Amino acid sequence: MAIKTFEEYVRSLRRLKPTAYMFGEKIENVVDNPRIRAGINATGATYELASNDKYKDLITTLSPFIKEPINRFTLPPQSIEDLVARVKINRILGGYVGTCHQRCTGLDCLATLSIVTYDIDKKYGTHYYDRFMDFLRYVQKNDLTGNASVTDVKGDRSLGPHEQPDKDMYLRVVDQSKEGIIVKGAKVHQTGSLSAHEIIVLPTRAMGKGDEDYALAFAIPSDTKNLIHVVGRNSMDTREIEGVDCGNIRYSKYCPTLIFDEVLVPWERVFMFREVEFAAEMVSRFSAFHRQSHGGCKAGKIDAMTGAALMMMDYNGTTKVSHHKEKVIDMIHKAETLYGCSLAASYEGKKEPSGTYFIDPVLANASKIHEGREMAEVTRLMIDIAGGFVADLPSDKDFENPDIGELLKKYLKGASGVPVEKRIKMLRLVEKMAMESADTISDIHGGGSPAAHRLTIFRESDINYKKNCAKRLAGIED
Ligand SMILES: Cc1cc2nc3c(=O)[nH]c(=O)nc-3n(C[C@H](O)[C@H](O)[C@H](O)COP(=O)(O)OP(=O)(O)OC[C@H]3O[C@@H](n4cnc5c(N)ncnc54)[C@H](O)[C@@H]3O)c2cc1C
Repeated sequence: MAIKTFEEYVRSLRRLKPTAYMFGEKIENVVDNPRIRAGINATGATYELASNDKYKDLITTLSPFIKEPINRFTLPPQSIEDLVARVKINRILGGYVGTCHQRCTGLDCLATLSIVTYDIDKKYGTHYYDRFMDFLRYVQKNDLTGNASVTDVKGDRSLGPHEQPDKDMYLRVVDQSKEGIIVKGAKVHQTGSLSAHEIIVLPTRAMGKGDEDYALAFAIPSDTKNLIHVVGRNSMDTREIEGVDCGNIRYSKYCPTLIFDEVLVPWERVFMFREVEFAAEMVSRFSAFHRQSHGGCKAGKIDAMTGAALMMMDYNGTTKVSHHKEKVIDMIHKAETLYGCSLAASYEGKKEPSGTYFIDPVLANASKIHEGREMAEVTRLMIDIAGGFVADLPSDKDFENPDIGELLKKYLKGASGVPVEKRIKMLRLVEKMAMESADTISDIHGGGSPAAHRLTIFRESDINYKKNCAKRLAGIED
């Protein structure tokens, strides 16, 4: 059967041997490294819930390509129902892990490639779509997770790929043979790259004449030779490694820098090669899909944040405080508008020539702009309600210390009848959800910087229709 359980997923990662570094040292066993494992657990939730009776009918479906039940995280949307399911599943997962589950990015790449490879073939008579479909069937049969390898290091932002003084600032082809192409460069902020079986590479920006070497799309296993994962620092990473003061210890997010130090990509895994004019379509389709995904998962994270705020009200004795209730209403409102926008982007989706459904990009980007602003506001409201101990709660080790532990427990209790341990745990969760930099910064930059979302809204909106509305009402005829 194509659907993996959580345990089978973790076992499948154990079979991979990626080259990975963290804090200046090589990690030999990534699966049992507590920092990486917290990320694997978050992605693992997409497998775990697929075999949970409550969610399996939503998360699994029949593949039209392999004619077997699959996890929806391997299916480019084939209908409006599939687009809507993506948002609903992401919302459930956001609330379940309270951080990023990290599997949406790979699906967003699969969805993009299923549209654009077809479009390239139509123009050039190439065979990228067939190659991609072979890859997709392999992903579905083995229930694999993909990582989205999109963001290049970019060097001087005022220069295009081929204009950079160092030619490796955007991933490029440096050689080719009958086996495949050799690529060199680095991709950054690679969410969950060690929790993924496959690294799916797309261009990060529109490209033009002279950028042909950079116009590439392909997929390679995450343990490919000469591919190096360097796990980035995060505000709370040493807590996971030390195993104390973690709050939500099971789930976390990490985003390595990925160096392609002359990596061989076999031809059968190359999905775009030098067709520069399609780079823009690749990145805009990916970004739109990814921004739609965020609308679901971030609404889910707000569910967890709102729950934490409500629990802190119970634990602090402020349940009946009216301004707290008002703030909770604001939090719920922000989750629902984010979710609503993302659902609307799905319901307004359209079928592309390849058969894949694409969301409405204006609505998906509106959702992302909303996220960039409002997640920070939701965090502020949660902290306001929870109180100042989000900043400086004594360590678990202090609570366990025989000299001061009981004193701390006496003075840090809240509402009567609430065990102090529960209050401490909830405060740690609030701290984690507010301060986990790898997740909170993605509210702003994930799926592209805010300016990119705004430009897309302007570019994709029907500006003439809006002008014509105004001209007709003003009685102006051209
Ligand atoms: C937590 C997190 C997770 C992520 N996960 C992934 C992932 O899994 N895969 C992936 O591929 N990427 C991922 N990203 C990368 C994300 O898409 C980028 O961070 C985003 O596109 C911004 O790029 P940048 O960080 O290089 O910033 P920059 O592009 O340097 O942007 C910084 C600022 O400069 C502005 N700017 C830059 N260049 C120009 C220009 N030429 N003209 C005008 N303004 C400009 C931007 O608008 C922005 O305001 C992730 C990012 C984060 C923070």
